[in-house]
Amino acid sequence: MTTSVTSHINVNAVNKIFSTADKEVIALRDINLEIPEGQFVCLLGPSGCGKSTLLNAIAGFSLPTSGTIIANGKTVSDPGPDRGMVFQEYALFPWMTVEKNIAFGLEIKGLKQAEIAQRVSNLLQMLGLSEFRQRYPKDLSGGMRQRVAIARVLALDSPIMLMDEPFGALDALTRRNLQDELLRIWADLKKTIIFVTHSIEEAIYLADRIIVMTYRPGTVKKDIVLDLPRLRDPSSAAFNALKRELGQLVMEEQQRHHDDELKLAAID
Ligand code: ADP
Ligand code: MG
Repeated sequence: MTTSVTSHINVNAVNKIFSTADKEVIALRDINLEIPEGQFVCLLGPSGCGKSTLLNAIAGFSLPTSGTIIANGKTVSDPGPDRGMVFQEYALFPWMTVEKNIAFGLEIKGLKQAEIAQRVSNLLQMLGLSEFRQRYPKDLSGGMRQRVAIARVLALDSPIMLMDEPFGALDALTRRNLQDELLRIWADLKKTIIFVTHSIEEAIYLADRIIVMTYRPGTVKKDIVLDLPRLRDPSSAAFNALKRELGQLVMEEQQRHHDDELKLAAID
């Protein structure tokens, strides 16, 4: 009998508490999510609302204090090749060329050289990197580096891609280009994507579903499914209506963040 593996993600009653010498921070409280295979989900919220904490828990880098996460049919207990992570700060090996960076995970996996070469060549092409294959990361622009980071995750063919503000450091034009490429790749390869951003516009441009988080403790404030056809037009009425709605929700949380900082300042 064959069992089909899906990349469905289940987050069940997840709490995460960080304990430091003088205080405890409840970073996540009672998070429950069901993410079907192939969905493009954006986690949206201001800084400090637990987006990275939730993503890291799904990645298996830092486990929940309580609750469970099931990814791809298995309870998450550590990082795994079924969940690829793309960070804001690229995380490439500086001493390796573009093609070596992309090939690295495949070599670890022990694939045959001919197959590695074929896959790397396909990915270089898919991400418009063929001309840059021999370059080192320091000789690439931010946008190109982020393409390499995406190619590296795609090389492993992870059914789940976790992306933590991956385009946050890029200029507007490069960012839009990479958003479009990511949408194209996602449509072609049918990955499940969880994409963290604090940009409302980015979330509306990309997502099937937007999960707005509250500021400390991080909870699900709103879970919205989008039915706008792609490619979406940021100047359209529907886009802007959603932008106003989400803007209001995010602003409430930003205000709570601000009030919190004022309280802390008053204690100092
Ligand atoms: P976001 O990614 O939404 O900006 P984070 O997930 O990074 O938020 O952080 C959520 C909260 O947890 C913040 O208040 C942050 O200060 C706290 N936090 C995150 N990581 C740690 C840690 N390793 N130790 C203590 N507190 C942490
Ligand atoms: Mg973060």
